[in-house]
Amino acid sequence: EKQAALATAPSDADAPTIFDKIINKEIPSNVVYEDDKVFAFRDINPQAPTHILIIPKVKDGLTGLSKAEKRHFEILGRLLYTAKLIAKQEGLDDGFRVVINDGPKGCQSVYHIHVHLLGGRQMNWPPG
Ligand code: ADP
Repeated sequence: EKQAALATAPSDADAPTIFDKIINKEIPSNVVYEDDKVFAFRDINPQAPTHILIIPKVKDGLTGLSKAEKRHFEILGRLLYTAKLIAKQEGLDDGFRVVINDGPKGCQSVYHIHVHLLGGRQMNWPPG
C-alpha cells in the first residue's frame, strides 16, 4: 500500500503530503522560520547537527523541482534566499549545504518541494 502511494503521488500535483499538516500545525514540528509564503522546520531525522527543511506554504503544483514552471520563479528564489537567512540564524558561518532531492533517483520521498539546509559539520563530496 505504501509502495502504491509513493508511486502515484508524483503524478498528482494536488495530493496533500505530510508537509501540509506540518504547515497547518496539525502535526507538530520544530519551526525555525515562517513568513507569508515560506515555512521552515527541523528535519525529524537529521543528517547533520543542523538539518532544516524549507518549503513553500502553497505547493501550487510544485511537487518537486522537475515540475517547476515560470510562475514558480519567485517562490524558488524565496526558498533559496530563506536558506541563506536561516544559515545565518543558525550560525553556519563557515559553510553549509543546500540540497533538493528530485524523483525516485534523487531519493525524494515527500512530494512537496523542499530545500534541505545542512550544516554544523564538515560535509563530504561526492554525496551518496
Ligand atoms: P528523503 O526522505 O530521502 O530525505 P526527501 O528529500 O523527500 O527524501 O526528504 C524528506 C524529508 O522529510 C526527510 O529528510 C525526512 O526526515 C523529513 N520528514 C518526514 N516527516 C517529517 C516530519 N514529520 N517532521 C520533520 N521532518 C520530516
